[in-house]
Amino acid sequence: MATLTLGALARQAHRTPVQEPLPDFYFQASAEETQAAIGVARAALRDRLVILGHHYQRDEIIRWADYTGDSFKLSQLAAARSEADFILFCGVHFMAESADILSANHQRVILPNMTAGCSMADMADIYQVRDCWDQLTGLLDEKILPITYMNSAANLKAFVGERGGTVCTSSNAPAALRWAFTQAPKVLFFPDQHLGRNTGARMGIPLEEMVLWDPFEQGGGPDCAGDALRRAKIILWKGHCSVHGRFTLEQIRQARAHYPDVNVIVHPECTLDVVQAADDVGSTEHIVKVIGAAPSGTKWAVGTEINLVNRLAKQHPDKLIFCLDPVVCPCSTMYRIHPAYLRWALDNLVAGRVVNQVTVPPEIRHWAHVALDRMLAVH
Ligand code: SF4
Repeated sequence: MATLTLGALARQAHRTPVQEPLPDFYFQASAEETQAAIGVARAALRDRLVILGHHYQRDEIIRWADYTGDSFKLSQLAAARSEADFILFCGVHFMAESADILSANHQRVILPNMTAGCSMADMADIYQVRDCWDQLTGLLDEKILPITYMNSAANLKAFVGERGGTVCTSSNAPAALRWAFTQAPKVLFFPDQHLGRNTGARMGIPLEEMVLWDPFEQGGGPDCAGDALRRAKIILWKGHCSVHGRFTLEQIRQARAHYPDVNVIVHPECTLDVVQAADDVGSTEHIVKVIGAAPSGTKWAVGTEINLVNRLAKQHPDKLIFCLDPVVCPCSTMYRIHPAYLRWALDNLVAGRVVNQVTVPPEIRHWAHVALDRMLAVH
C-alpha cells in the first residue's frame, strides 16, 4: 500500500470534511415517515430558513427547496436572501462555501451531509495550483490571469481573487474569458479542462493555443513541452466532471438514428467533440429554459445529470426527453444529500442546534468574495 506523506495527509484532511454518524432511526424510518418529519420540522422553522436545491438533487429533496437552480443562480439567491437566519444548501460543499461567502454575516449556511463534495473540484487543490502558478510565472514573461470554475474550493477562489482573476460558471464562462483577455494575454483556467476548452473554441481560439497542464507532471507534462506554453492563450487544468465525461459521440449518433428530428442539448462540461456535435450547449439553467420553452411534441436528447433529465421529462410529458447516456448514472456526490440527512439537519435546527455549518475562514473569505463579486458583475 502506498504511504501518504505528511503533506498529502494534510491536503486530504483539508479537503475532506467530516460527517458525524446519524442515529440509526434516521435510516430505519420509511421514506414516507422521513418526508412527513421533514415537513413538520420545515414548517416549524418558517421564514427563519431558506432551502436551496441544486438541479441535480433527487425529487425527494427538490420538493422541499424554496429555490432551485444551478450554482450561479443559487449563489445569486444566497446573496439576495438576507432575511433568513439559516441557508440550508442541498448541493455540494463548494456551493455551500460560496453561499457562506456571499450571504450576510448573521446567516449560517448548512450542508446536510458534509461528505457531499465534487470529484471535479477535488482535482485541483491550493498546493497544486500554487505550484503551477510559480512554475508558469517563472517560465513566462507575459501576464497570466487565473480563472477558477465555480466548482472549486474557497481557497482557490481566494487565490484568483488576490491575483486579479475571477470565478466563472457554466453560464458566464464566455463572458468571463472575454473579460479576462482585456486584462491579460494568457489565462490559467481550472479545474475543468472541458469548460475551458469548449469556451475557448467557441471564441475562435485554435486548439494549438490551448494547452493542458497536468498537475502531476513537472512542467505540466508533454502538452506544455517546448514553446507550447509561450504560444498558448489558455492553459487548461487537467480536471473533468465524471458525470459529463460519460457522454460520447456514439450516444449522439444513436439518438439521431432512433429519432432523426431529435434535438441534442448538452452541458459544457462534456468533451469538445460531444459539444460540437450537439445542437445546443449550455448550463443546466439554460437546458431547463430551452426545453421548457420548446414546442409540444419536440424531442430532446440531453447530456447532463440524470435527476434533472428525469425531472424535465416528468414536467413536460408533451415532449420526449431522455438522457443521452442509456446507462444512467447520477452525480454520486450530489446523491449523498439523502432525505435522512435533510431531516437530521432540520431536526437539529428545530432543537436549537446548528449542525454541519459551512464556514469559510476570514483570511480566505475576503479574496474569495472579491473573485465572486467579479463573477456576479461579468455577464
Ligand atoms: S455533476 Fe460533476 S461537476 Fe457537478 S457536482 Fe457532480 S461531479 Fe461535480
